[in-house]
Parts: sequence; C-alpha cells; structure tokens
Amino acid sequence: MLETAEWICTRCGSTNRTLVPATASEATDECVTCHTRHALERDPRPVRWRAKPVGKAA
Ligand SMILES: [Zn+2]
Repeated sequence: MLETAEWICTRCGSTNRTLVPATASEATDECVTCHTRHALERDPRPVRWRAKPVGKAA
C-alpha cells in the first residue's frame, strides 16, 4: 500500500509529492523543479515529510 509523502525542496522551496510504501520511514526523491535529490524522513505530522538535500554539495 502506498501513501503520498509531501515535502518542501530546501533549495527552491517547491512542494513535491511522491508515493512511498505506507510502512516506510525514509525515502529519497528528486525535486521536480530544480532536480536536487533529497533524503526524506517521515514527520510526526501526517503527509508532510522532512527533506534534506543529498549528493552534490551546494
Ligand atoms: Zn527544488
């Protein structure tokens, strides 16, 4: 079963959404706007996940 993880890009501020397994606590996704990869962590709040950039340093 999948659920929507919503996260805010730390680089450009865009809101992104990705589907993750309902049991997942971590995921990775790429910003649709600036293509920065982020590591996502499930937040206590529903739906919204914490995001931090991975890969290339700024
Ligand atoms: Zn972005």
